[in-house]
This record gives sequence, C-alpha cells and structure tokens, in this order.
Amino acid sequence: MTDYQVPHYEVLALRYATTDLNRPRHENFFPGMDLHDGAMPLDYFTWAIRGEGRVIVVDTGFGEAAAKARKRILLHEPTDLLRRAGIEPNDVTDVILTHLHYDHAGGISDFPKARFHLQDDEMRFATGRNMRHSCLRAPFECRDVTQAVELVFADRIVFHDGDETIFPGIELFRIGGHSGGLQVVRVATKRGKVVLASDAFHFNENRLRRAPFPIVYHLGEMLEGFDRCERLAGNDPDLLIPGHDPEVRLRWPALDADNPDIVRLDLPPTKNE
Ligand SMILES: [Zn+2]
Repeated sequence: MTDYQVPHYEVLALRYATTDLNRPRHENFFPGMDLHDGAMPLDYFTWAIRGEGRVIVVDTGFGEAAAKARKRILLHEPTDLLRRAGIEPNDVTDVILTHLHYDHAGGISDFPKARFHLQDDEMRFATGRNMRHSCLRAPFECRDVTQAVELVFADRIVFHDGDETIFPGIELFRIGGHSGGLQVVRVATKRGKVVLASDAFHFNENRLRRAPFPIVYHLGEMLEGFDRCERLAGNDPDLLIPGHDPEVRLRWPALDADNPDIVRLDLPPTKNE
C-alpha cells in the first residue's frame, strides 16, 4: 500500500463529565494496591473518529439523570459536545460501544439512525446470570441494557466476536477484564495507530503499575489487557489513550480555543507525561 492509500482519521476525545475533585485515590485501584492519601478525580469521555467520508462515535456517555443519581458532575450533554465539534447525532451511522456500563452506553437513544458495534460477550454478560449480583451490575443501568436489547430486535447491532476491522484503518479488539466483553478501538492517524483503550485502563497509572481499577469481572483478563494494549500501540505510550484520565485533556491540543473539553488525539501531545 502506498502512503496516499493509508487511511488517516481525525480522532477527538470529548470530556463531558467529571467527579468531585476530592475523590480519594484508593477508589481508583484494586483493594490494597494504593496506600497513599490524596485526591484523584476522574473524567468521563466519549470519542469521535472522522475522515475518509465517515463519522463514527465511540461510546455515548450519560445525561443529567444518571449524573444526578450517581453524583457525577455533568459538564456538557454529550450530544451538545458532539454538535460543538460539528457532529450531528442524528446523522451518525455507526457507534462503537466499548462496553455497556452506564457512563459508556447511557445515550443509545441519542443516535436514532446508527448501527451499534458491540462484542457478543458484552451482550451475554449484561443480560445473563452475572447481573443477579449487585457488585457486577452496579456500573450498569437496566434501561441502557434493555435499549441495547431493543436494538437487537430492530437489527441495529453489529455483533463482533473477538478482533475485527470494521472499516479500513479502524479495528476492534476484545479485551474483557473490566466487563464481560470490553473492546478497545485502534484508529489509523497521521501520527500512527491510536488505541482508544476505554476502560481497559482508566488511568495511565493503572496500566503502568499493573494496579487495576477496582471494577473488575476477570482480573486475569484485565492484567493481560494491559499487555495487549501496549502491544497494539507498538509500546508507544503516546498512542495509548486511557478511558478516564484527566491527563488526556491536559496533554492533547484543544480542537479550538472555544472548546477546551474537546481535544485532538490524532495530533501529537503538546505536554509530556
Ligand atoms: Zn466501565
């Protein structure tokens, strides 16, 4: 393939919500794996990929009701943020759901024309016996899961079983670990293949110290997932995008001066780690 045939996409991270600034550090690590005092707030993102005549949204985020119920700080309705980036939710044809947790799949109905890409394992996990257990279902909202089931009956889900290239330069990889069928997305950009790791690791620190975030379905898969993501990024840390790390917004350049909560991941970071 000559260079002009290699697809290059623009990739945006859109920060739509955050937590209390005083969120204690230990809430972000597996029990016993962090004994420091101090605060470690967490940000919530959706992502968008555009180029080659396509616009693809990765995860939908949540709205006001979930923010209130779970005491999160909603900075923007996720669809407002997309519109600020020039993306009209009604026109989006493809949404990748990395998994079905409330903060990733809380806005399914915001994309009435889209097909949704989901792993078989994630649908099985979110609709099967594991949801009987309160600690496994806590990050899910029943309403989001039933909406996903309605999409199945409307033939609007594209199921994936493992790793798949869904468009030239856009690949999905099943990681699991954090949820039954968590998938990450790898996107070709001018600066290399960017890995949107979603909740394979919430913070870079989870990956670097091999100290997982405490919401885990399969700990072994989660630990293997750190290795897998690093390999997928060719071991370049600047190509690895954590799912909830406030550093993402601080390190990458803003889309423009009016939109500090939207950053360009297809450009090199402007600050070092
Ligand atoms: Zn999650």
